[in-house]
Amino acid sequence: MRMSRLYVPTLKEIPVEAEVVSHQLMLRAGLIRPLTAGVYTYLPLGYRVIRKIEEIVRQAMNEAGAQEVLMPVIHTADLWKQTGRWETFGPLMIKFEDRKGREYCMGPTHEEVIADLIKDEIRSYKDLPLNLYQIQTKVRDEIRPRFGVMRGREFIMKDNYSLDRDFNGLDCSYQAMYDAYVTAFANCGLEVRVVEADSGAMGGKDSHEFMVLAEIGEDAIAFCDQCDYAANLERASASADQAIRTEEQEMEALQKVATPAQKTIVDVSNFLGIKAEQTIKSLALLADQEPILVLLCGNDELNQIKLLNYLGVLELQAVSEQDFGELYHSVAGFIGPVGLKDIRIIADSKVEKMVNAVSGANQKDQHFINVNPGRDFKVEQYLDLRNVQAGDRCPKCDGHLEIKQGIEVGHIFKLGTKYSESIGATYLDQSGREKPVVMGSYGIGISRLVAAAIEQHHDQNGIIWPLPIAPYTVIILPLGKDEEVIKTGELIYQSLQEAGIEVLLDDRTERPGVKFNEADLLGIPIRITIGSRSLKQGVIEAKIRRTGEELALKAEQAVGQIIELLNGWNYEG
Ligand code: ATP
Ligand code: MG
Repeated sequence: MRMSRLYVPTLKEIPVEAEVVSHQLMLRAGLIRPLTAGVYTYLPLGYRVIRKIEEIVRQAMNEAGAQEVLMPVIHTADLWKQTGRWETFGPLMIKFEDRKGREYCMGPTHEEVIADLIKDEIRSYKDLPLNLYQIQTKVRDEIRPRFGVMRGREFIMKDNYSLDRDFNGLDCSYQAMYDAYVTAFANCGLEVRVVEADSGAMGGKDSHEFMVLAEIGEDAIAFCDQCDYAANLERASASADQAIRTEEQEMEALQKVATPAQKTIVDVSNFLGIKAEQTIKSLALLADQEPILVLLCGNDELNQIKLLNYLGVLELQAVSEQDFGELYHSVAGFIGPVGLKDIRIIADSKVEKMVNAVSGANQKDQHFINVNPGRDFKVEQYLDLRNVQAGDRCPKCDGHLEIKQGIEVGHIFKLGTKYSESIGATYLDQSGREKPVVMGSYGIGISRLVAAAIEQHHDQNGIIWPLPIAPYTVIILPLGKDEEVIKTGELIYQSLQEAGIEVLLDDRTERPGVKFNEADLLGIPIRITIGSRSLKQGVIEAKIRRTGEELALKAEQAVGQIIELLNGWNYEG
């Protein structure tokens, strides 16, 4: 492709609306343009990257035995009502009516549609296992579309669904997909970490996420510094014996003390001259409207997902000042478990081990000291409810946990029979008994992957595409107007194309500085520079975008040398 013809509207300035590097570079390098919040057009270079990623993912899916289909973007409401997700997916779905008043949504994911598809098609155990995938635009009305295509309201996803006779079959399909994902991301030239994940609203049990580590990532991940334990913070747990008590301590008598206007953990611990971890944090919450009290060690944070999973509810709400009085007979800032009547109390396991702690006394300006769980109050259940913190002990070994940010680029779930049962996707087993199909669901954010790749691979001058997903492999920069230079450029351009290499020729009459800067911004892996002075010596220069390494090539052998360079390319980057 000739740069003079390529539609690549690069920008010199950093667009003010773009907060993160990948979004800035995608706009500056002319890969995308916005239509409205979270909705983008892919321009030629951007779309080439998308297609490269799609092809790599496609190959990994095909090799793992999945077959490609294309399902509808428009879904009927009744399907989503059958699984209950018309409500639970809620405002994330764009819903609409047709001219006859029938309800629909734009597909945010396809578990319902796939279950409906196979409902009438799969009759016998002989039809299973089956694995179907598609690469398609998904629509989700995200609350906060941001970071460009990282969190769009319209985005490209590869999703697939494994259909098995039983849970053993699902385990095999799941493992095959896990392996295919590892291969696909590596083949894109990306470094991706697999972490244990919460299966959340999807239902089901095992789940893993594939994360590109990056500071701007929206997910926090806990890693062990010694073993391979890695989990999304939503689900990460620390070793159960995070004892805060090192030696046996005598329980002292419960005592009420005045704590005027000391409402927060920090206030109270400063006022009483104790550490935050000696206080009990009491959180008054409405769980689907029911008032509950959740207890944590003062320096811990509540992990909402763990609490939601335990309670089996969808929503937690904070309690208003007025509700503290009416529902809890307590006072905001001074609530605590001692003496609280008719309220479910649920506590983090660490609280059980606290001795002589401090908590609110359910009266204005009063706290209790020497509070001892078990003796002074009872709880419904102790369980892991906290977010792990850096430095916590690993649940699997003697190591310690570190916390890093990651971008979720893929997610796999063992769904089980939740969707097949509610939609009635059953088959007849060998003995003629009707059984629900056992499902797995697997997604890769193709468009998010472009942004994640840039977060992982860039420098101050621009993008540094990993070779397998680069929009073009080589860019040729003939400098100046010298006829020999231009002729050589054309010749190398032709020969590389004939050799099947994707190449850009910067045939514009721009100054060398402009050409160099744009080549760096676009991030093409190999840059060939042809200048009149070195050409007189029979030399042209190649520069590797990633390493900055410069190679002097003999003009006549340049094409062969570039092909050699590519054959020996280190695909790690
Ligand atoms: P997230 O937690 O980031 O909202 P999710 O868990 O809702 O994602 P899945 O339903 O698991 O996402 O979708 C599969 C993949 O699709 C994700 O791993 C992610 O890479 C991608 N994806 C999800 N939502 C978006 C979005 N709004 N924009 C771009 N890609 C997305
Ligand atoms: Mg997910």
